[in-house]
Amino acid sequence: MQKIGVIPGDGIGPEVIKEARRVLDAVAEKRNLSFEYEEFPIGANHYLDTGEVLADETIQRLSRKDSILLGAMGDPRVKPGILEKGALLRLRFHFDQYINLRPVKLYEGVPCPLAGEGRRIDMMFVRENTEDFYVGLGSRVKKGLSMSSLSLIRKTYEAKFDVGVDLTDEDELAFQIGVITKHGAKRVMDYAFQLAKKNGIDLVTAVDKANVLTEMYGIWREAAEEASTKYGVAKEFQYVDAVALHMVRNPERFKLLVTPNLFGDILTDLGAALQGGLGLAPSGNINPAGISMFEPVHGSAPDIAGRGMANPVGAVLSASLMMETLGHEEAAADIERAVKDTLKSGRFRTPDMGGKTSTHAMGDAIVEKLKRK
Ligand code: ATP
Repeated sequence: MQKIGVIPGDGIGPEVIKEARRVLDAVAEKRNLSFEYEEFPIGANHYLDTGEVLADETIQRLSRKDSILLGAMGDPRVKPGILEKGALLRLRFHFDQYINLRPVKLYEGVPCPLAGEGRRIDMMFVRENTEDFYVGLGSRVKKGLSMSSLSLIRKTYEAKFDVGVDLTDEDELAFQIGVITKHGAKRVMDYAFQLAKKNGIDLVTAVDKANVLTEMYGIWREAAEEASTKYGVAKEFQYVDAVALHMVRNPERFKLLVTPNLFGDILTDLGAALQGGLGLAPSGNINPAGISMFEPVHGSAPDIAGRGMANPVGAVLSASLMMETLGHEEAAADIERAVKDTLKSGRFRTPDMGGKTSTHAMGDAIVEKLKRK
């Protein structure tokens, strides 16, 4: 029996998670697996009712789970950042989920914005999830002399920065510090190259901007070199701008890309567009030796919430990623196959895909396909 913490969250989160849960129930029955679920009311309603975003006690309870499935965080009634930072980012950091795994796969029957028939887009993004320019170190300073004391506290290290700025001739300046530790780069490279090896992928593309941001991405490249030798998998270095260009001109060339946090954030949204839109894109925040958290790439989409219009495929595929990480590879493949067959038939398309299928009907179709095979 594995224990799964479920955070339906805000907006369309609860609607898509409901379908993902039904699909998980169907696959559990088929493969004779047993899961125990506990729902956590984290999100805007809970925050507005109690003034609390994420209680320490909730984190403790989540720490006893084997995995977490999350819908979405964010609500127009709450100032942007409060829920996203206070819940989502806090959980990612607390559980040290240092990998953001985002498969970009174009399934047959899904309209792709790129020209050309039968495109074979199938690439995996391994995005570093805790460092880079997302460490939240920065400040705004006025003309003259100023000191900023900034500190970075992570599970595995602490770093303090005392930054003195003597600004002349301009009124104000803002700066933001990016950080990559050797350990941080190594562990993400280890994960990426091991994953490539496991899946028979012969080339890893390491993305950076090492020609401009030489220090941070110098460490990044060293770690990629070392992992490539260690695991016997070839690597290539590509600048992020070139990757963006190739993803549009020739996305077929990529198999597995390992990216720093910021560039990965941007490229994977481009990837979501290539695979048919945000509604279809899954992700996992992974700590290979700890508790991972799976969520669709999309946010809470308040414009369509509560109307039965949300595409549940991103959430369902996130559940498939969760199965894989929990060691149920057959169950993961069953779910993916059911999604693939549903999309291929062309009969089921939610409004974001240009159709009229409801969230629930899409879930039904996937469950039916799953049961049949
Ligand atoms: P966040 O900042 O919370 O990540 P975002 O600004 O990326 O959110 P989303 O909430 O992800 O925005 O969605 C952007 C738009 O895409 C939505 O307003 C909605 O119209 C559409 N969208 C997102 N997810 C889905 C989905 N699952 N099904 C259908 N449409 C969706």
